[in-house]
Amino acid sequence: MNLPDFDYYEPESMQETCKLLAHLGGRAKVISGGTDLMVKMKHALLSPEVLVSIKNLSQLTNIYYEKGKGVVIGASATHNDIVNSPLLQEKYRSICEAAHHMANNQIRNIATIGGNIVNAVPSADLPPILIALGASVKLVGCSGERRIPLEEFFTGPSKSVIAQDEILTEVIIPDQPATGSTYLKFGLRRSGALAVVGVAVAVTMDGDICKDARIALGAVAPVPFRAQKAEDLLKGKKITKELLEEIGKCAAAESNPISDIRGSAEYRRDMVRVFTKRTLSKAINEGHV
Ligand SMILES: Cc1cc2nc3c(=O)[nH]c(=O)nc-3n(C[C@H](O)[C@H](O)[C@H](O)COP(=O)(O)OP(=O)(O)OC[C@H]3O[C@@H](n4cnc5c(N)ncnc54)[C@H](O)[C@@H]3O)c2cc1C
Repeated sequence: MNLPDFDYYEPESMQETCKLLAHLGGRAKVISGGTDLMVKMKHALLSPEVLVSIKNLSQLTNIYYEKGKGVVIGASATHNDIVNSPLLQEKYRSICEAAHHMANNQIRNIATIGGNIVNAVPSADLPPILIALGASVKLVGCSGERRIPLEEFFTGPSKSVIAQDEILTEVIIPDQPATGSTYLKFGLRRSGALAVVGVAVAVTMDGDICKDARIALGAVAPVPFRAQKAEDLLKGKKITKELLEEIGKCAAAESNPISDIRGSAEYRRDMVRVFTKRTLSKAINEGHV
């Protein structure tokens, strides 16, 4: 499996990058960590004539907090940058845990959050927890920039709203009242496996009453999505074992999985039931975001 021939550019600025992408059109692809792109090129699933690296855009690796905006994660931050970020460990430990449960250490050292999102694979690990936490993404292109909620970014497997000349530059997690959040992934091995089902939740508890909840599911529909009927069922209620069982069933009914080598649709749906209950219990009981 040899890589096909391609030209390679390392522009020095965002403007230059966007201009280059607009000029090259569908012949070019952005490369960040390359953990997904290189595999697809080796398997001849993609054969861009030109790769445009964003590694010289060093501002894209920053992770910081901005008052009034929230926590900002630069698109080129790697999974291990996220795992090891003191700011994220303090404010959103659930994002660090989701990043930690992705692939293996070698991949986590180079795979980026931007690549994980733009790849738009339904089983990707970071989108569910980011959607549960209400994250949005900033896209910068030749004609300006736009910010959209992450849950509106995906349009299908490997498809999103990003334009050919646009770069995903940052992920923004707004300040929020959530008292607990968690992402649990069910894979066929304990580590290094893609999600068969991924469930992320963010809850705002007042004693044992759930004031607000966001439940995001991955790997069980063409795109990661919020199980809004399950969320509505939870809001304003006292948490009981029976209620969690009901929420799990409701989330399972909202999912729309396919059958593949990792599991049948029926099995996946049942795992949504189990993991929604489990994820909610963990977020409620551990009490950290
Ligand atoms: C062995 C192995 C195991 C894996 N396990 C997992 C796993 O458990 N969970 C999981 O979620 N993923 C997994 N992956 C998939 C992959 O590693 C991740 O999706 C990774 O985050 C992709 O990031 P990257 O920087 O390498 O992206 P790249 O490969 O560089 O790019 C991926 C896509 O995104 C585009 N892109 C990248 N960055 C930007 C940007 N800033 N703006 C615009 N477009 C951009 C590229 O053009 C390309 O289309 C695995 C991959 C491998 C090889």
